[in-house]
Amino acid sequence: MVKNTLLQVWPIPAFDDNYIWCIHDGDSALVVDPGDASPVLQYLKQENLFLKGILVTHHHADHTGGILQLLQLLGSSIPVYGPAGDDIPGRTQVVIEGDKVEIASPRISLEVYEVPGHTLSHIAYFANMQANIVEPMLFCGDTLFASGCGRLFEGTPTQMSQSLAKFMALPKNTLVFCTHEYTLSNIRFALTVEPNNANLITWAQTAKSLREQNLPTLPSTIGQELQVNPFMRCDQKEVIDSALKVSGEKTLPSPAHVLAVIRAWKDRF
Ligand code: ZN
Ligand code: FE
Repeated sequence: MVKNTLLQVWPIPAFDDNYIWCIHDGDSALVVDPGDASPVLQYLKQENLFLKGILVTHHHADHTGGILQLLQLLGSSIPVYGPAGDDIPGRTQVVIEGDKVEIASPRISLEVYEVPGHTLSHIAYFANMQANIVEPMLFCGDTLFASGCGRLFEGTPTQMSQSLAKFMALPKNTLVFCTHEYTLSNIRFALTVEPNNANLITWAQTAKSLREQNLPTLPSTIGQELQVNPFMRCDQKEVIDSALKVSGEKTLPSPAHVLAVIRAWKDRF
């Protein structure tokens, strides 16, 4: 068998709608947010892969619940990268904004962003262009979803707005690996906010047909989200107008104010 030099990224479905992303080179693998060990073990076995590291975005159990079992069964020396501040089971390396996670195999370098909102210590991992990847890649946990964003369990709308702004500044071709298949319900809400967004209407058809074939709607891209995600479009007239109408406010002075309104609206949608 010829060893791949380009990295591949595959979704391992878990629970009802989680994706545990597996980054591998045909031999060595990393997994992101393993909430459950058994689908990961099964996938690694089936693909003949060796687990070399675990990346964690935030402390919720559906992202961390499988870590200890993976370490127990595959080797307690596997590094586990995760945010500070919360108890991440098995974590060996605390990473903060600006840190670089350098993995030897599979060969990849990832930059860490702190993206509070969904949780206070939530982080994301960004792999910019490098020798063995074809597009930049973002592993964003529950901060950004296709056509949506994470619920604000711990952070404020202003924090989420600033976190999403970090993603909005990334290259448009960045592949976005979200951790839940929430796309169709997010699109239903997005269409209520922006019924006239032509890109969103087209995307709704594409996403529906992908799900009918039981295919993931992910990864998305930053460029795509800028066109269809209301939480990344809080400076757009139709989004602002909808937020004004729903809130009854006369003005919403910043994108963070608009985000606060549409996030609360989505929570009761
Ligand atoms: Zn979460
Ligand atoms: Fe989650």
